[in-house]
Amino acid sequence: MDGRMIAAYARFGEVVIFDTTFGTNEEKWALGTFVGFNNFREIVIFGAALMCDQSTESFAWVFDKFVEANCGKRPITVFTDQDSAIGKSLEQVLPDTKHALCVWHIMKNAQKKLCAGYKKKDKNDTGLLGEFCKCMFKYEVEEEFEKGFKELAGKVDKKDERWIKFIFDCKEKWAYCFMKDAYTLGIRSTQASESINSDLKNYLSCKLNVNRFMDHFERIVDAKREKEIKSDYYMTLRKPKVRYNIPILCEAGDVYTTNIFELFQKECELSGSAYIESIDGNIYTVGMCNINVEEPSRKSRQVVWNRDEQTIVCSCKKFERVGILCCHAIKVLDREDIKNIPPRYILKRWTQDANDDTVVDREGRVIEDAMLEVRNRKAQLMREASLICDKVVHDESLFQFVLDGLRFLLLQVEERDGNHDEDNSNSQLENSLRLKKKDGDNRSKRRKAWNENLSRKKKDNGQNILNSQSLIRPSNNLSQDITEEHFGCYGNLEDIQYSLIY
Ligand SMILES: [Zn+2]
Repeated sequence: MDGRMIAAYARFGEVVIFDTTFGTNEEKWALGTFVGFNNFREIVIFGAALMCDQSTESFAWVFDKFVEANCGKRPITVFTDQDSAIGKSLEQVLPDTKHALCVWHIMKNAQKKLCAGYKKKDKNDTGLLGEFCKCMFKYEVEEEFEKGFKELAGKVDKKDERWIKFIFDCKEKWAYCFMKDAYTLGIRSTQASESINSDLKNYLSCKLNVNRFMDHFERIVDAKREKEIKSDYYMTLRKPKVRYNIPILCEAGDVYTTNIFELFQKECELSGSAYIESIDGNIYTVGMCNINVEEPSRKSRQVVWNRDEQTIVCSCKKFERVGILCCHAIKVLDREDIKNIPPRYILKRWTQDANDDTVVDREGRVIEDAMLEVRNRKAQLMREASLICDKVVHDESLFQFVLDGLRFLLLQVEERDGNHDEDNSNSQLENSLRLKKKDGDNRSKRRKAWNENLSRKKKDNGQNILNSQSLIRPSNNLSQDITEEHFGCYGNLEDIQYSLIY
């Protein structure tokens, strides 16, 4: 784990997926990865551990150290792909954390156990697997689940009775009726971490010893982070598309990240199909018009609205699970003429400002995100450059002007980069020799302004680079003030971009 992982966990670590990849080095150790979702609902890495065995003690040690490294912060929910040793260790170390099992892995086993040899009675017969799916995804009430599972268990082969008992015993970890209140961010499986694990499997040779293995692992993490940076940047460019000009959506567009806004907008659209069946005091029963005939009718929901406290609770529990308001709650808010999202229902972890908080470590020291500044600079440069591109791509002359300017800028940056190192070594040398710089030294080193250099180039090779500059001169006052401050190597890049845009 490093500072960036700790900072990411502090912001987004309520729900953790712990996945294991086995036999990844020459000792056949297991690699456990801790991952989660950031504010864009993109995968972030919280940490990783190499374990020499898969015993309860080993997993317990890993979870214990993970919590310790994260200043004692415990996740609300942990998803894993298996029970047994991991389950026992979670009970020991994180007794208050909800342990959820990956439904994809369970379903894969269910397919093997329940499909073999089953003959369908007719085309509507979904078989035992269909019944199992209902237990996993459909039944909302425990009694319904118990009844449905009992019927299913009575039909399975004797050889599969052990599996059906095992899966029933851990029902709280996978059945919807036990999971609907759990804070999961909408996760039901560990598949989100698969891309990381498949990368590990692809790139990590089994012949690696521990040290080389960790070197390779760090390289993979770096590559993932680079992708994260690009992904963050492109998402900041993509403005949420507000399809309807209504206050609650406009507010959501301002605060949520694009992906979360899309989810919220979908709920707003669904609320258009919702209707109030009845009102009893502050309890609303909300029904849904069934537009799609193939879709099973949706259940009515009870929504409790408290105007004084500004609280709204729906029986579908979407907010408690995912962290955004459901269509039923939005319908009631609209009915109550509430045109904004009550503040407590905007979770910071889904907002564009989710990374603004300062994170401290166990000793109370601020954890610096070493890449944050770089990321911000890169995002700002790309944003500004993107604005220029949009302005000039349809005009050949302007395009050529910007292209020439950028190429020249690149030369200047490279020159400055080289001189920067040289200057540093010179000043170090001067310091060590205690030499005093003469004023004249500075003057002789003065770099020429952009237009000065261009003029020289024009004379030197006859290329009319300045012509492109003259294109904006008649209509742009700022261009008349093109000085070293704007375009010279001592001017900052922001000024240059400002001058080009306006
Ligand atoms: Zn609801």
